Amino acid sequence: MSGWLTIAGVGPGDADLITPAASRALSEATDLIGYGPYLDRIPEIGPKQTVHASDNRVELDRARHALALAAAGRKVAVVSGGDPGVFAMAAAVFEAVDKGEPEWRDLDIRIEPGVTAMLAAAASAGAPLGGDFCAISLSDNLKSWATIERRLKAAAEADFVIALYNPASRARAHQIEKAFALLRTLKGSETVTLLVRAAGTAEAKVTITTLGEAAPQAADMRTLIIVGSRSTRLIHRPGRTPWVYTPRSEEEAT
Ligand code: SAH
Repeated sequence: MSGWLTIAGVGPGDADLITPAASRALSEATDLIGYGPYLDRIPEIGPKQTVHASDNRVELDRARHALALAAAGRKVAVVSGGDPGVFAMAAAVFEAVDKGEPEWRDLDIRIEPGVTAMLAAAASAGAPLGGDFCAISLSDNLKSWATIERRLKAAAEADFVIALYNPASRARAHQIEKAFALLRTLKGSETVTLLVRAAGTAEAKVTITTLGEAAPQAADMRTLIIVGSRSTRLIHRPGRTPWVYTPRSEEEAT
């Protein structure tokens, strides 16, 4: 079999944030598969490349389609926003392999990492992930709200900085309201909170606020939220946006 399958991360938006390794996989592929807006992040698509654009919600079907093409000898790149291993296509491909055709296990499958939204968002504000942190997706498409609540509570109690993916979508507006309400019962209202929309793009918008004042309406499906730990703090600069950082050492915590 000469086919292969690479799941390539195209980063948060800017073409500059696509790694050379991911670019190489994208240019060597005969077939590109992915959600339309992610395919749009590829700077150049060759005339001989076949593009299979799909809906964002049919991840498992997309994964099976990609595996079947690779098994038929095609060189397939599955395109994922950010990093393919973070709430994205790489796990969907392995779920499909796990439950799918036995010969799929022999395929040449590779993952090319990308800059995940959390890292692009953090970089735009300073160093909020400088201490221990965790990432939680607020989407309850694939898990129950009870599970999300349990993880938010555990993260708050352990005083992790918490990166929240999927805070809202057109279909769900209430998750982030409920998450903020729960976190307010567990963490101080002064906790530094960041909302970063379209991180890693020219339209990036960083909102620095507190947990007490964070407005759920400000978060949409292109927003990444970072709720600080007890030690996350601001460095004020006259006339300029403050920097946000979390000290590396516990001694720095107040
Ligand atoms: N694999 C992606 C995440 C997919 S989940 C990654 O590694 O980034 C989709 C969620 O990611 C969105 O709802 C949003 O919370 C976040 N996200 C993706 N791109 C973003 C961007 N450019 N700016 C802010 N958040 C983003």
